[in-house]
Amino acid sequence: MQIVILGAGYAGIRAAFDLDHLLRTHGRADQVTLVDRNPYHQLIQVLHRTATAGIETHESIYALEPLLRNRSVHFVQAGVQAIVPLERIVTLENGQQLAYDRLVIALGAETAYGHVPGAREYSLPLHTYEHALHLRDHLIAQFSAAARTSDPREQRILLTTAIVGGGYTGCQFAGELAAWADDLCEQTGAPRSEVRIALIEHESLLLKQFGEWATREAERVLDAQGVSVYLNTDVEAVEPNLLHVAGNRVLRAGTIVWAGGIQGPALLRESGLPVDAAGRVRVDRYLRVEDQALIFAAGDCAAIPDVSEGTTVPATASYAMRQGAHLAETLLAEVEGRAPRPYEPLKLGEMVSLGPHYALGNPLGIPLTGYPALLMKKGIEQYYRATIEGPLA
Ligand SMILES: Cc1cc2nc3c(=O)[nH]c(=O)nc-3n(C[C@H](O)[C@H](O)[C@H](O)COP(=O)(O)OP(=O)(O)OC[C@H]3O[C@@H](n4cnc5c(N)ncnc54)[C@H](O)[C@@H]3O)c2cc1C
Repeated sequence: MQIVILGAGYAGIRAAFDLDHLLRTHGRADQVTLVDRNPYHQLIQVLHRTATAGIETHESIYALEPLLRNRSVHFVQAGVQAIVPLERIVTLENGQQLAYDRLVIALGAETAYGHVPGAREYSLPLHTYEHALHLRDHLIAQFSAAARTSDPREQRILLTTAIVGGGYTGCQFAGELAAWADDLCEQTGAPRSEVRIALIEHESLLLKQFGEWATREAERVLDAQGVSVYLNTDVEAVEPNLLHVAGNRVLRAGTIVWAGGIQGPALLRESGLPVDAAGRVRVDRYLRVEDQALIFAAGDCAAIPDVSEGTTVPATASYAMRQGAHLAETLLAEVEGRAPRPYEPLKLGEMVSLGPHYALGNPLGIPLTGYPALLMKKGIEQYYRATIEGPLA
C-alpha cells in the first residue's frame, strides 16, 4: 500500500515514525511517504523563544534528512496544493502528483485574521519558524532605530509592541519579550523606560482553556513584568503602526503581532473536504475524514470530536502528537485488514510559560504555577526532543 502523510509537524512526524516502526516490526513493505514544504520539522511550541532570541535558532527546528536516514520513510519536500479524493491523488505546488491508498492530513493551521481590516497586511504572525526569525529581526531593527532617533514620539512608537490575542501564543510571547527587552535595550542603546508591551484580548479571559484562576495568575505575572493587559478589548482595524480599538481608541505601535487565532488550511475547503466553521477538516472518532474511507486527519487541521465533553479536542502539540501515534496504529490495522480502535483524547493537562522564569498549567487537572510548573514544562519539552531524536522515535 502507498501511505502518504501530509505535514511533518507534531502529528505528521509522529505518525510517520511510528508507522515506519510498526510496519517493519510486522514484516510489511508498505511505502510511507512524508510531504512537507520545509526540509525541517519545526518545534512550533518554542517559537516565541526563537522570536525573542531566548534560544538559538537551530533549537526550534530539526533537519528532516538525518532524522529519516535510518528509516524507510520517503520524504518529498514540496508544498501541497490540493487533495483530489476521487482520483486518490495529492497535487503538489511543483506540479508533481502523488497517488495514495491511504492519506493522512496533518498540515497544521494558519493564522486566522477574522474579518479585521488590515490585520493580515499590517501585523506580524507567529506560527512558523520563518515568522519567528522575521519577528526577531524586526524587533531588533525597531529597537536599533529607536536608539538612533532623537524624536521622543517616534522613539515611543518604535518601542511599543502590541500583541493581539491572549492565548498560548500571545501570552508566551509577551512574557519572553518582556524579559528580552532588557538585553535588547542594552545591545541597541534604546531606552528601557520607553518600552511598552500591550497584550490585547477580546474576551474576558487570558488562556481561557485553563479557566479563571489561570487568567488572574497570568495577568498578575505579566503585569509584574511590565506587560499591560487589556481584556474585553476588540481590535477593529489595523493600519501601519496603528491599531483601532473598540470605543474609538487607537494604539500606536511599531510592532503589531497577530496571535488572534488559528484556522484550518484553505486547501482543505478548496479540495471539497468537509470542514467546520474554523476551516478544520471534520473527522469521526477514528480520525477518519467524514465520508472519506481512505483519508485520515490529525492535529490542528482537524476538528476531532471529544465525545465526553461534547466539544472538539484542543489544538495543542501534545494532542497532535498523540493523534499521530494513534493514526500509526490505525494505519497498521488498515493495511492488515483489521478494525481500528477509536481515538480517545488522553487529558494529561497543558503547560504554558510566561517568560523564561515562570510557567503555569494543569497537569492531570491540578493547577500548578511558578518554578515547579516551569520545570515540568521544560521536562515535557526535553521528553519530546528525545522522542524525535531517539533511534526508534
Ligand atoms: C508560539 C506558539 C506557542 C505554542 N505553545 C504551545 C505549548 O506550549 N504547548 C502546546 O501543546 N502547544 C503549543 N502551541 C500549539 C502547537 O504548536 C500546535 O498545536 C501544534 O504545532 C500542532 O501540530 P500539528 O502537527 O497539527 O501542526 P504543525 O506542527 O503546525 O505542523 C504542520 C506541518 O505542515 C506543514 N505544512 C503546512 N501546510 C503545508 C502545505 N500546504 N504544504 C506542505 N507542507 C505544509 C508545515 O510546514 C508543518 O511542518 C503553540 C503554538 C504557537 C504558534
